This record gives sequence, C-alpha cells and structure tokens, in this order.
Amino acid sequence: MNKLIQRLLRKHLPSDHDVTPLGALLHAFEETLDQNTQDRLMLERSLMLTSDELNEINDTLIHQIKEIKTVKDQLEKAFIKQAAILDASLEGVISFTPEGQLDQANKTALKFLDLSLEEARSHSPKSLLRALLKNIHNTQSFIGNIRSTRNSKNKTLKGNFKTKDNKFFEYNIVPELMNNKILGSIFSFRDISESQNNQELLKYQAYHDNLTGLPNRTNILHTIKHAITLSKRYKHQAKILFIDLDDFKKINDTAGHEQGDRFLIEASIRLKSTLRESDTLGRLGGDEFLILLDNTHSQKQVKDLHSRILQTLAQPFMIKNNPYVISCSIGISSFLQDGNTPEELIRKADMAMYQAKKLGKNRSHYFDESLERLAIHRVKTEENLRAAIKNNDFILHYQPKIEIHKGQEKIIGVEALIRWKKEDGSLIYPDSFIAISEENGLIKKLTQWVLEESCRQLNIWKDTKLKNTPISINISAIDIADFNFVNSVISILDEHNIPGNLIELELTESVFFSDIASVNNKLALLHQKGVKLSLDDFGTGYSSFSYLQDLNIDYLKIDKSFIQNLSTNDRSLAIVKSIIDMGRNLGLSVIAEGVETQEDKSILLKADCHIVQGYLYSKPTTAEDIENLHF
Ligand code: C2E
Ligand code: CA
Ligand code: CA
Repeated sequence: MNKLIQRLLRKHLPSDHDVTPLGALLHAFEETLDQNTQDRLMLERSLMLTSDELNEINDTLIHQIKEIKTVKDQLEKAFIKQAAILDASLEGVISFTPEGQLDQANKTALKFLDLSLEEARSHSPKSLLRALLKNIHNTQSFIGNIRSTRNSKNKTLKGNFKTKDNKFFEYNIVPELMNNKILGSIFSFRDISESQNNQELLKYQAYHDNLTGLPNRTNILHTIKHAITLSKRYKHQAKILFIDLDDFKKINDTAGHEQGDRFLIEASIRLKSTLRESDTLGRLGGDEFLILLDNTHSQKQVKDLHSRILQTLAQPFMIKNNPYVISCSIGISSFLQDGNTPEELIRKADMAMYQAKKLGKNRSHYFDESLERLAIHRVKTEENLRAAIKNNDFILHYQPKIEIHKGQEKIIGVEALIRWKKEDGSLIYPDSFIAISEENGLIKKLTQWVLEESCRQLNIWKDTKLKNTPISINISAIDIADFNFVNSVISILDEHNIPGNLIELELTESVFFSDIASVNNKLALLHQKGVKLSLDDFGTGYSSFSYLQDLNIDYLKIDKSFIQNLSTNDRSLAIVKSIIDMGRNLGLSVIAEGVETQEDKSILLKADCHIVQGYLYSKPTTAEDIENLHF
C-alpha cells in the first residue's frame, strides 16, 4: 500500500520533490487504508452472509407461498365439493351467524325460502324468519321451538312442521362450534311426507281390514275394551253381535275367490247400512263380522236389527250376472253379564252364533251358560276322539239291506255304521261324534278307518255265504271335498284286493253344496272303478233335482223320517210314493230306511219299493251276528 501511494505521489509531485517527509502521513494513510480495507472486507463478508440468509428466507417464503396456494386450491376444491354435495341434497341446510343472519344455504333451502343466496343474505334475521314461516302451517310450535334454542345455544334441537300444502317436514338445529366457541347454528330440514304417509298407512292397516276397510279384530278389541269401561261406569247394557254368513263357502267355491271378495265388500256395506252412527261394525276375518251395539238396545231393538240385517242380505247379490241370496247366523253376548273382557264376550257371542247355525241357520241366538258346557264337551270329545283314533277304539256294526219283492227276502248288501268302544265296553253312537269330527276334520281319518275295516271284513266274508255282499259306507261332505279322496279310496281297495263293486258310498245332499262339477268328476272316477253311489237321507236336504240328472247315482235312500210316518201321515206316504216313482223313472233303485213294522213294509212293497232296511229285519249289529242272519 505504502509503495503504491509513493508511486502515485511521485507521479503527481515534481520529480525532484522529496516524498520522504510524507512518510508519517503515508503511514497514517496506510493505516487508515488498512483499517478501511478491513472494514470493507468485514462489510463484504457480512453482506455476503446477509444475502445468503435472505436467499434462504426467500426460498422458505416461496415454498410457503406454494404450500399456501396448494392448501388454498385444496380448500377451494373442498368448498366447491361441499357446496355441490349440499346443493345435491334433498335436505335443506342453512347456516346462521350468531346474530341470526343467513350465512350459507344450499339450493333446497333457498328453494324453500324462494330466495337467491344474495337476497337471503341481505335479509334481517326477522324478515328471514318471516320468509321461512311463509310456508309453514303450525308456526306457533315451530317458533316456540326456535326460541327455545336461544336459551340453550349449544344444544341440538329436533322438531316437525307441516307446510301449508300438507307436507310433513322434520328439522334439526345444531350449534356450529369451534373450540367450544359458538360460530353460529345450522338449520337442516327434510320432507318426510312419504314416510309419514307410510306410517299413517301402516297404522291404518294395523287397525283396519284390508278388504272391506272395516275395523279389524285388533281395532274391535280396543273399542269393546273401551265400551266395557263405560259399561262398568254407567251400567250400560251393551251387546256384541257375532255374525257369520250362512254357506258363504258355497259362493266362494262356485263363483271363485275374487267374486267372493266382492261379495264380502258388498255385504259389509249392507250390514253397515243397518246400523246407527254409534254402533260399530268390524270384520273378524273370512265371513265373520262383529257388531258392537251400545246401551240403548232392548231385546226388541236387537230383534228388529236382526230382521233388518236378514232383509238387506236377502236382496240378491249380482255376481257375474247371477243372483245370489244369502242369510246369516247371529250370536249375541251381553255386557257384563256374559263377560267383562272383549275376548270373553266375543268368544261367547261366537258360541251363540254356532248354536244359531246348529238350529238351522238364518237366525240369532243369545249366549247362555249351557252353550259353554256344550263347547267344553266339544273340546273334550275332540281330545278323546283323537286318542280313540290312535288306539283304534272303534268297531263297525252292519245293518242288512233286504230285497223284498222277489218272493224270497234276501240280503243284497249291508251298511257299515261306526261305533266308538269305550273302555268300560259301552258303545258311543255316531250321532254324538260324527258332527264334531266333521268340524275338526278328524272325519277323514274315521272314513279311512271305516273303509279299511270294511275291506278287511269283505275279505273275511269271502269264504262265507256273505261273499259278494257289498258294504255301504257313509261318506261326509268333508271327505269328498278332500282332493285326495278318490285316490285314497282306490288305493285302499287295491291294497286289500277288493273289487270296486263290493263298496258302495252313501252320500248326503250336503256334498253338493260345494263345487258340483268337481264333486261330479270325483264320483265319476269312483263309478268307473265299479264303486256304487247312494244318495242318503233323500228328502231332508235341498232335494234339488239338477244334480240327479248329471250324476251317476245307483240308489236313492228315502230318509227314515218319512218311513216312520208312513202309516199315520198321508203326506209322508205321498212323498214316499213320489220319490219311488221318480227313482224308477230315473232308473235308480230306491231303498227305504228305518222300516220298523210289517205295515211299513207292506205299504212300501205296494208302492213298488224293492229294498228296505230297518229294525224290522235287524238292528245294526256285529259282523258275526250278520253272518248268522237267515235271509
Ligand atoms: P244313517 O246313514 O241315516 O244311518 C241310519 C241310522 O238309522 C243308523 O243310526 C241306524 O242305526 C238307524 N236305524 C236303522 N234302522 C232303523 C230303524 O228301523 N229305526 C230307527 N229309529 N233307526 C234306524 P246310527 O248308526 O246311530 O247312525 C247315525 C248316523 O250316523 C248315520 O245315519 C250316518 O249318517 C252317521 N254315520 C254312521 N256311521 C258313519 C260312518 O262310518 N261315517 C259317517 N260319515 N257317518 C256315519
Ligand atoms: Ca247311511
Ligand atoms: Ca239316513
């Protein structure tokens, strides 16, 4: 540095100028310069440092900005997505500021408010509430609910409202919280009209009969229960009428179920028309209806009502252009004398109805205690019957059918009549158990047993003088209605190796109450197999001749009630003669049953009846006894 300065001085000073004295000065310069150089170097160093830091900071900042941008993008995307999701929702969602100003709202909510987002935001809390309430029906409870949120700001609130166009909404108000600080509230609501309607529908269905729309059993039970309470409090004498249509099954079978349903609807309308406002009509199921009559019904009024009911049902029902007339049987039980629970009153009215049926239908019957005893007897008998079937506690008695017109009287067949053997050796006669076994279906098992037992007996008789003597078996309408009946008869015959012509079936006219065509088909199949058919108790049922012309019957059995009056009642004689004539004209053999006296027999013989059956010849008796008869 020193030399450099000296050189510069020599350049600018005269050449002879001594620069030595300047040494001190130079030295001072030099020092200063050094100092400056050092300072500069230091400065330079520190400047370099600062710029690195700045660069670093700059880099960090650039990075952070980038991150913020990414986050912002993501947030923006998420926000748009959330908004889109909210807009797509059928639920209306509105977020409010703590002051009650609208902050955000989705499309459904804005549609409900009938405002744009900007408009909604510009509304004051009050006018916004007004816009919300414009459509709402039960504003009072809604406002009350909203108000209550003010007092419990951090609680969720649920409620319902109904709109003026009858839609049901449910809503939710939840606080918008951040770190326990309330930022506002979210109000969401949705249309639940459909599910509400479904609920109402379900409720309706649970209490009403699907077909007729009448109150159903559950509903009636409720109503009766209520009526019982009133009856207890005010000493009302209310009544229950249990109504069962007579022979409705016949309509169902002949016209089909769909028409049967139409019939029931029409019947329910007619029944309803006979009642007063205060009376209740319900359907228990099938063709069973129930009427609850309130206090003011005297016995006479009940009787009048019954006549009205019968009258209205007696007007022909047109089904597929065919007129149908129907009657009903009614059982009546009285509050509280017959019971103090709905179930008991219905059960007793049912018992009384059953009795009305038994007494010939188309009538009403009041419950009394004897019916209960009968019902208990029925249940007990059914139990015992089941056990008897299991234990094989039956025997067959046989009663001969005698041919009387050929000079020598001769057994041409026997009728099998079932008896129930008791443990003590006594016998129970069919009149006290056949009807019950028909009701509960046990008859099918009995018939099967009778058929098998008869076949077994026929095989035993093969080697006796009774060989080739046919056995007649009584068949119930329930048997014939069973689709498997024909197969079962044929397979029993085949199993025992018995030809069809050794079995005859005795049917009463009741078998034709159901589908006549299908009965005819079944009987034709049996006939093909050689099985003969006999129309039993002829004259006591409908005695409609229409099925006589279509059916391959072999015998007509005149009911014993006509035979028993033969000698004393001219009309009976006239009927018997007519049946015999008709039978002959149709090519049928006529059998008279219940022949007890010689006089009866003579009259019948004179009237050209060739086959008789009755105590005159033999009471029904054991197979061994029959073998020893001398005819
Ligand atoms: P049903 O088929 O009319 O049988 C004739 C009934 O009259 C028999 O009564 C017989 O004992 C009785 N009887 C016969 N001759 C005379 C007579 O001269 N005078 C009087 N007063 N009665 C006579 P039972 O055996 O008590 O049978 C009653 C009814 O029970 C039968 O009437 C029949 O409908 C039914 N039944 C009997 N056995 C069976 C069976 O195995 N299956 C079915 N489904 N029903 C049967
Ligand atoms: Ca018979
Ligand atoms: Ca008979």
